[in-house]
Amino acid sequence: MNQLLKISRIAVSLLILLVITGALTAVPLTIHPLAEWIERIQFLPAVITFSLAVFVGWLIITLIFGRIYCSTVCPLGIVMDICAKTRLKISPRVYRYSYSALRIRYFVLLIVLICLMAGFFTIPSVIDPYTAYARICRDLVSPVYSWITGTDIRSGLNWSDSLAVKAMAGWAGASIAAITLLIVAVMAAKKGRILCNTVCPVGTTLGFISRFSIFQIDIDTDKCINCRECEYVCKSCCIDLNDHVVDGSRCVNCFNCINVCPNDAIHYTFRRKQLSIPMMQGVKPILPEPTLENSAPHHNCNQPDNNSNDETIS
Ligand code: SF4
Ligand code: SF4
Ligand code: SF4
Repeated sequence: MNQLLKISRIAVSLLILLVITGALTAVPLTIHPLAEWIERIQFLPAVITFSLAVFVGWLIITLIFGRIYCSTVCPLGIVMDICAKTRLKISPRVYRYSYSALRIRYFVLLIVLICLMAGFFTIPSVIDPYTAYARICRDLVSPVYSWITGTDIRSGLNWSDSLAVKAMAGWAGASIAAITLLIVAVMAAKKGRILCNTVCPVGTTLGFISRFSIFQIDIDTDKCINCRECEYVCKSCCIDLNDHVVDGSRCVNCFNCINVCPNDAIHYTFRRKQLSIPMMQGVKPILPEPTLENSAPHHNCNQPDNNSNDETIS
């Protein structure tokens, strides 16, 4: 079942990436009705064009299943996943839990909301992940494809005929698109979904909903042996193994973690496991007031223990 979830997610995301890239670059692989539909269900473009049904639809889906939009439908997110996966192949166990950059997330979202309400769509368009991906396809992938095949796929002209005319304008667009792609690829390889969980307003909006979603990634502390394998493959860096909780606002439902767990301790489920070990519940213990007798340094179980690889936390 776990494997099926991950395979389905990968299959759907690759299909969407292929179809939308084909449509945006006009490569003749395009399935036009499907491409148009995928374009219509993109989150921020739907908000900008006042498509209430798409907006509400994604909020409801996120409230039930979490941020599956970010793991299957957003083309830029899928590109990030490919970069992160490549990095994991080269150097496994690369990711670690990090704290959420909540202030940056809400600040960027606030700016975007103010712009939208003021009818100033330039900043939202620049920051929108779908628009960024469209620019990469139009200004970078499309010219490269044309150059390789010798055909201008956007106008039907032979590429060499139109090359001189388009060279100047093409270079500026291609440079911006190349820089965008480079930043996305490097950040994804080094820090996983950090752009998703800091600057993307769509991620912040859906993340706000997904922390309350019905289905979430949940750790069964009765089974967890603290091996940290799930943390190492979590590109959202959102698995906190000190408190054994997953930050639902940053989890993008990639299902990487549930497939690497050696003890079947982490699940995508609507049930919240009743934890048998109180210290693992994220509840801060009430410590007695310090006195001369008990003020000697002691080990705090809520602090990370880098040497700990034990089967239980004591
Ligand atoms: S957070 Fe933004 S960039 Fe990342 S996958 Fe979601 S929509 Fe795309
Ligand atoms: S917690 Fe699991 S499903 Fe969520 S982003 Fe991390 S690895 Fe993916
Ligand atoms: S046992 Fe499973 S849930 Fe616990 S740390 Fe290892 S991989 Fe994660």
